[in-house]
Amino acid sequence: MNILETKNDRLGFEAGLPHKLAPLTPQNDPWDPIRSLRQYGGHRLTSVEMTVTNLCNMRCEHCAVGDTLTLSEPDKIPLSDMLRRLDEVEHLETISITGGEPTFSARTVKEYMVPLLKYARSRGVRSQINSNVTLPYDRYEQLAPYLDVMHISFNYTDADDFHAIGFAKSGHSVSRDAAAKLYERMIENARRLSEAGVLVSAESMINYRTIHKIEQIHRLIVEMGCKRHEVHPMYPSSFAKDLPVISKEQMREAIERLLDHRDPNIWMLFGTLPFYHCSDDERERKLLSRLASEPNVTVRNDPDGRNRLNVNLFSGDVFVTDFSDVPAFGNIAESKLDDLFERWLTHPLAQSVNCHCPAASCCGPNLLVKDMYYKDVNFHMRSAKLE
Ligand code: SF4
Repeated sequence: MNILETKNDRLGFEAGLPHKLAPLTPQNDPWDPIRSLRQYGGHRLTSVEMTVTNLCNMRCEHCAVGDTLTLSEPDKIPLSDMLRRLDEVEHLETISITGGEPTFSARTVKEYMVPLLKYARSRGVRSQINSNVTLPYDRYEQLAPYLDVMHISFNYTDADDFHAIGFAKSGHSVSRDAAAKLYERMIENARRLSEAGVLVSAESMINYRTIHKIEQIHRLIVEMGCKRHEVHPMYPSSFAKDLPVISKEQMREAIERLLDHRDPNIWMLFGTLPFYHCSDDERERKLLSRLASEPNVTVRNDPDGRNRLNVNLFSGDVFVTDFSDVPAFGNIAESKLDDLFERWLTHPLAQSVNCHCPAASCCGPNLLVKDMYYKDVNFHMRSAKLE
């Protein structure tokens, strides 16, 4: 099937032409599953993430998919199979393209990524790419006209940090000069993409390295021209499994400090926080209230398995997220994505985190967070304590 033959073209949409969509703002974040939960009264599949490569030019010490990275890879499933399955997703609002470094192969950019983004545009669906933006700008330039959000990782205060973190798992030495060149290119590419109208969203993780300099990292992200700073705690998945863990209290203090020193003009998005309004710890509840009342600050509920599934484009296997230990629970060769999503919702793991407190705009913990901090907690026995 050609992308020009999709259902949405039959409905009269023209591929490649932008729809009149509400801008992405703190008030309008279609990746947050609370929106569809409110709208439909239950979780719906509104977001599909696709893993298009396991290749990457970096080997970051915290990489959540580090164990899956390879040096060569097989052919992907036909693009038409993926487009057909996307076309069947009744309430699709967003797509995400991830890797590895999705743009590592120029062929993948041309033959998969550009058509997927064009499809999304033609349907009025928002798009995101997760990239390290360290490759030559022409890779990203091809994507920019059709792309809404370029999501990058930024956990550094200088090229030395980048060198130490970004190649920690290389298995061979990478010179400081070579790393510094990539660091400069990343900053330059982020600036150019912002100027081209793409919402560049830089994500920092709060971990043992960044906890004491998260305000400095924030300042650099603002200087790079990013429109959003995303902050997530680091969880021990894949390469990050052996890294030192910080306590919830340290995390809370780092977030407080960041809020005290942030630039109020840039959107700050917090996600996968281990704090909930049902906590017995008043300081955690206070932090959540502060986050809710600060202008230009949002806390996104976790999309994985709530409004989003991940499709591996090498096998067609469908996962709850690209970095989970939960095995695939279906394949797009046999099943529709909406049907697989319904199946996932009945899974005991999905059930274990599917609480919902409407007054707190909360729809439960992330699976990794529950596993790390709340193993024996039954969230169905809890509810938000709102002052
Ligand atoms: S939805 Fe779940 S995690 Fe959130 S406040 Fe309620 S019980 Fe706690």
